Amino acid sequence: MTTHDLLTQLGVHTSGDHIARSPIDGAEIGRVAYDDAKSVEKKIAASVEAFKTWRDVPAPKRGELVRLFGEELRANKDALGRLVTLEAGKILQEGLGEVQEMIDICDFAVGLSRQLYGLTIASERPGHRMMETWHPAGPVAVISAFNFPVAVWAWNAALALVCGDSVIWKPCEKTPLTALATQALFERAMTKFGAAPKNLSQVVLGLRDVGELLAKDARIPVVSATGSTRMGRELAPVVAARFGRSILELGGNNAMIVTPSAKLDLATRAILFAAVGTAGQRCTTLRRLFVHESIYDKLVPALKKAYAGLPIGSPLEKVTLVGPLIDKASFEGMQRALASAKDEGGAISGGGRALEDKFPDGFYIHPAIVEMPGQTKTVCHETFAPILYVMKYTDFDDVLARHNAVPQGLSSCIFTTDMQQAERFIAASGSDCGIANVNIGPSGAEIGGAFGGEKETGGGRESGSDSWKAYMRRQTATINYSDALPLAQGIEFAV
Ligand code: NAD
Repeated sequence: MTTHDLLTQLGVHTSGDHIARSPIDGAEIGRVAYDDAKSVEKKIAASVEAFKTWRDVPAPKRGELVRLFGEELRANKDALGRLVTLEAGKILQEGLGEVQEMIDICDFAVGLSRQLYGLTIASERPGHRMMETWHPAGPVAVISAFNFPVAVWAWNAALALVCGDSVIWKPCEKTPLTALATQALFERAMTKFGAAPKNLSQVVLGLRDVGELLAKDARIPVVSATGSTRMGRELAPVVAARFGRSILELGGNNAMIVTPSAKLDLATRAILFAAVGTAGQRCTTLRRLFVHESIYDKLVPALKKAYAGLPIGSPLEKVTLVGPLIDKASFEGMQRALASAKDEGGAISGGGRALEDKFPDGFYIHPAIVEMPGQTKTVCHETFAPILYVMKYTDFDDVLARHNAVPQGLSSCIFTTDMQQAERFIAASGSDCGIANVNIGPSGAEIGGAFGGEKETGGGRESGSDSWKAYMRRQTATINYSDALPLAQGIEFAV
């Protein structure tokens, strides 16, 4: 099937001045038109109008729209998954996995649409009832990154929609086609549903300036932004200046501790998936590996051997496990990081360009293992590429401290069969990350839990648990059903 056929099946007709390219070989796969300030203004105004209708639709009915959208995703999982592979370069299994994640969050949101529970609170005043109610917040902006071009939107949108919000999506400029395809599928669901207001979900395309327009607009109470820490640092003050709420999902620098009691075969497999999967371009990619000195000479050579045999190639081919980096800038960033790690005393295996003859305009790389003398400046920085910094440790308290001594706080894990160490890792004085796993790698989270991290990762939470509350406004309502007017705190105010 050609890319054109795929886009047609998904309902996308591309035209415009901006070329969308595939990281697989740099070829053009479509063209899109960017929004400007005028069209963004129009879309925000339309989103406000859609919200005014949608907020009054009963939540379980809103859930029905999300259920229908989930059905569209099921019917088009292969096509959308393939488009994710073409546009973001992740292997087909991961492209399909990404669409499955969208389906999963739709299912979750449908159930949630009957569970947007508030509280009944004991009032200190006789004849009074107090309650807490959750109301729709307003238009929600979703700004997303290239590496999960559709799932991140779905995590936000499925919840926002059942919560009664309208949605405006600014996808990454590197992945506009998957956004248009998702929007087209959503519109099919809207048609089947029949009763949803026009412009309930819209896409705005463009560079960061388009994101900035959403960030500063006071009609948008919630801005969910996924991307680099640099982006979050710029966006958060803009949203805060108008007292908006941001949900920030920023960079990670995720680690694994492998203790002497670990099952090494399990740890090795987990390291491989977490460090080289998605060519090291997941926010949860494993970037720092702490290995106890007693097992270092067993684990690290085994890893190097496994790395040497990794199938690198087109992500459309079934055997491939490592696809391309997103672009040349990413490749250059990886080379810069490797050079500074070397200057800091790192011993590098791999890291060079691969398949240059076959794909002169695709940036394939040999994932790198870098043995570091310590946690240097370069190790503390997130380079969005498959570089695994490996460090030795002796003492458990010391490795816990080193584990937490980076600016980011997204995901973390320990491989151990020692119950005390496992429990200490997830205790209050253990990992300081939003995600902490035992005998599981740091990547590949399920949608049922709240997803996100601390420190420079931004503190936002999306997806499962009670993340939905961020898309609603909380109201405390007190009703007096008595004939008296008692005041709280027993205050007497005789008039
Ligand atoms: P990026 O920061 O370059 O861009 C992300 C999005 O933000 C894009 O849509 C971009 O146009 C927009 N943007 C950039 N600057 C902006 C500004 N000042 N105001 C408004 N919008 C702006 O990120 P990327 O290269 O697409 O993605 C990689 C990064 O995303 C990595 O750091 C990765 O860790 C992070 N990420 C985090 C999570 C998470 O859940 N924590 C998930 C995926 C990716």
